[in-house]
Amino acid sequence: PFDFQGKHVTVAGLGVSGVPAAKVLHGLGARVTVVNDGADERARAQAAELEALGITVRLGDGDTLPEGTELIVTAPGWKPDKPLFGAAEQAGVPVWGDVELAWRLRGPDAADWLAVTGTNGKTTTVQMLASILKAAGLRTAAVGNIGVSLLDAVLGEETYDVLAVELSSYQLHWAPSLRAHSAAVLNLAPDHLDWHGSMEAYAKDKGRIYEGNRVACVYNVADKATEDLVREADVEEGCRAIGFTLGTPGPSQLGVVEGILVDRAFVENRQKNAQELAEVADVDPPAPHNIANALAAAALARAYGVPARAVRDGLRAFTPDAHRIAHIADVDGVAWVDDSKATNTHAAEASLAAYESIVWIAGGLAKGATFDELVAKSAKRLRAAVLIGADRALIREALARHAPEVPVVDLDRTDTGAMRAAVHEARRLAQAGDTVLLAPACASMDMFADYNKRGDAFADAVRELGSVEG
Ligand code: ADP
Repeated sequence: PFDFQGKHVTVAGLGVSGVPAAKVLHGLGARVTVVNDGADERARAQAAELEALGITVRLGDGDTLPEGTELIVTAPGWKPDKPLFGAAEQAGVPVWGDVELAWRLRGPDAADWLAVTGTNGKTTTVQMLASILKAAGLRTAAVGNIGVSLLDAVLGEETYDVLAVELSSYQLHWAPSLRAHSAAVLNLAPDHLDWHGSMEAYAKDKGRIYEGNRVACVYNVADKATEDLVREADVEEGCRAIGFTLGTPGPSQLGVVEGILVDRAFVENRQKNAQELAEVADVDPPAPHNIANALAAAALARAYGVPARAVRDGLRAFTPDAHRIAHIADVDGVAWVDDSKATNTHAAEASLAAYESIVWIAGGLAKGATFDELVAKSAKRLRAAVLIGADRALIREALARHAPEVPVVDLDRTDTGAMRAAVHEARRLAQAGDTVLLAPACASMDMFADYNKRGDAFADAVRELGSVEG
């Protein structure tokens, strides 16, 4: 264990991870200074709270390394190219993220970690995994980049056998010594490249999750980049590469055979070469990408020794969070679906693939993405498209290139009321049997506080339609 007594620790960034980290370190006897770029009202309130405990806070200057710093504990979102980290490197000061801190404090002793990362599907998979582990009678929780922080999980009152841990690429970047029991990378598509600098750097940070795995490295058979990361990882002796596939599984894989999720990697009865786990219909929603999430969760649970029955019970007990392919209503034979959480093109592609004839509501902040591949792959499923938000022109142009026959309504609006207008346009365009799908392929911050608010605006407008229709 690391002795923090009297150590000069700089916490970089207030906020959800910084404030608790500062308190914990202070409690362990460290001399804590918090540095923060902003000095808005929220920051000042948080600073006042910490200062009352005797912690030094410097607002409005997140880039000067405080004199005598021996360790930086950073908020995961802080970019590696920030001058603060350049100064730290020059001074030979190590930098840990919130996950690294939790791991160093008590990670390996508190519980086994089953870790999940990927561009899309992390939260869903981790929740499915926790549900399965619970069904097996284990003391567990879904933690990490989701509700409960790792610091709370490892230091809190509650004791756990095993944790289902969601890790973002940022958190992995700042967690050099993390060693999971087993881990999964669900998929890899360009996202957050402005932060990581390049696709290679992004993949490398994601791949860190496999380092030192003891039992299984779970990869996506359909996404070769994830398998490559397993090959490059340095793991414990005996650790196995386990694939998941929507097709028939090979040896050491989990997959789907005639509507049944089956496991050929961890078989309970040695006479058999496959173990039946659950039915596709046990997964909610039974869309292809979500079956993949279920298989990944099952693979990690099975690596932990969970019986097949618990996989089925856990998947049946699972209900998805709001705004993730949530069915809002049927109005005149048209289904209305909220996938506001589809904040990048890879996610939107997965949800568009789950329906046949779609009126697509899209647009928002593109974060540097291009839409050609998404539109080309989804063109044949589109009845029409309704575009809103700041970067909608990029989608409109991609539609013109790859789906010229699809009618497009460009609402030319970025105000919050635009969602209601979009819903009305979609209603006009949709025919019985169609699905109107909000899958923006973009971030929401140009129009809404977050994707929750965006999804709520959609659902409200849809419900209004339904009630007007009577
Ligand atoms: P994350 O935590 O990685 O953001 P979520 O589980 O919250 O992932 O899902 C976010 C969105 O990504 C969903 O609303 C859906 O559109 C899409 N999605 C979920 N799972 C997958 C997957 N395995 N592959 C591609 N897209 C997915």
